[in-house]
Amino acid sequence: MGKVAVAFAAAAAVIVSCSVAAVMVGRRVKSRRKWRGVVEILKELEEACDTPVGRLRQVVDAVAVEMHAGLASEGGSKLKMLLTFVHHLPIGTEKGTYYALHLGGTYFRILRVLLGGERSYLDVQDVERHPIPSHLMNSTSEVLFNFLAFSLERFIEKEGNGSSSSQRELAFTFSFPVKHSSISSGALIKWTKGFEISEMVGKDVAECLQGALNRRSLDMHVAALVNDTVGALSLGYYHDPDTVVAVVFGTGSNACYLERTDAIIKSQGLLTTSGSMVVNMEWGNFWSSHLPRTSYDIDLDAESSNPNDMGFEKMIGGLYLGDIVRRVILRMSQVSDIFGTTLSMLSEPYVLRTNSVSAMHEDDTPELQEVARILKDLGVSDVPLKVRKLVVKICDVVTRRAGRLAAAGIAGILKKIGRDGSGGITSVRSRSETQMQKRTVVAVEGGLYMNYTMFREYMEEALVEILGEEVSQYVVVKAMEDGSSIGSALLVASLQS
Ligand code: ADP
Ligand code: MG
Repeated sequence: MGKVAVAFAAAAAVIVSCSVAAVMVGRRVKSRRKWRGVVEILKELEEACDTPVGRLRQVVDAVAVEMHAGLASEGGSKLKMLLTFVHHLPIGTEKGTYYALHLGGTYFRILRVLLGGERSYLDVQDVERHPIPSHLMNSTSEVLFNFLAFSLERFIEKEGNGSSSSQRELAFTFSFPVKHSSISSGALIKWTKGFEISEMVGKDVAECLQGALNRRSLDMHVAALVNDTVGALSLGYYHDPDTVVAVVFGTGSNACYLERTDAIIKSQGLLTTSGSMVVNMEWGNFWSSHLPRTSYDIDLDAESSNPNDMGFEKMIGGLYLGDIVRRVILRMSQVSDIFGTTLSMLSEPYVLRTNSVSAMHEDDTPELQEVARILKDLGVSDVPLKVRKLVVKICDVVTRRAGRLAAAGIAGILKKIGRDGSGGITSVRSRSETQMQKRTVVAVEGGLYMNYTMFREYMEEALVEILGEEVSQYVVVKAMEDGSSIGSALLVASLQS
């Protein structure tokens, strides 16, 4: 090669390496810009989900105000404040064998309890829990109830022959809104939590089950139709008569509490021997402009089977938390390639379950291997540690908001019944030492609360923040495992005795 040619080749090599370097620098700049975009999305999420205690107190006030409005007139509030016709709760002297069938949002449960006539003699003899086959959620009422009756029949068959000569008394724990006409009858108002059997709306739920039991010639009597929160309250009260509120955090979320009948203004003339009645709030439908709503919530709602409905539930229910997290990750994956460039499952609704959110959130391995595994299952492989940390942060933001809003909901009920230390929003006159300091037990159950430690901790922390240290000492939150079903069976027992 001549001198000129060598010089030319050397110059060309310099040019090539310069342009390679330029490309690399360009890429780095681009990827830094993309990372900045992702960080921006996280920042926006954090701001939109922010729940300082001042904001929570506004939610507390709104809950109390809506409770009043819902009690004042039918349709007076998004909170339906439904009558349950439960005015006596089990006290511990109940005796006998009782059954409960619980249709939740994800699971159905069947159990049998034996009661010996004193509190300590509560024997849960058999419990079954199965996922609700998903095809039933949008089948027909006949298919659904035939399935439930068939499941009950199999449950009873396990007892063997001759275990019961008399009719079996059954509680039907039903975790959807019902307009009761008595404790054992009520019409479905609407479905929630993804159920869609439209022909069922307006039908008597207990009658549907009784009909299906009769068709199978099962000698079982649907003695009570019980909202799951009312079941949890019953078990709470059975163990501790200071229990006046119950909340469920499972697939969805709801609360009930013991109300004075004279405060249920929309049902004037309602008389009960106890002077009180359990009110099913259906708080999943609570709404207030003070709730911190994000664009992800808006999209989730719009694409759900029940748009413009159950706004509070969609921020705190187990069915939804996973999908909010998924939507944030999806948005990030659209502005950058940090979640890879191959097609993932991230655009599939509800593919990320809240169980996985808690597993990622509570992943304590140094390399966040659980996060990596779950992302891989979603078709997102080889994400660096930095990105895994980002995912944990998203889970934290979404669940922290949920836990804190849940606490505001509970504090709202306490405020309404004058157990928040402020004497209630309408009765400043009745403020007294004793009223302020009455011990109050809140029974809590549901898969989200029982299994997601961080959700539980955020909720309990926020409750203390809202109520203050002093009042908090009088408010006891008690977990009730399987409370909905066991408590419903106890309630049926208390009706018989
Ligand atoms: P149901 O709502 O059918 O009565 P549960 O009360 O058991 O049933 O709640 C089930 C829901 O709880 C699940 O759909 C899920 O959203 C949530 N959940 C269950 N286990 C966990 C977990 N380990 N982490 C987070 N959420 C969970
Ligand atoms: Mg439940």
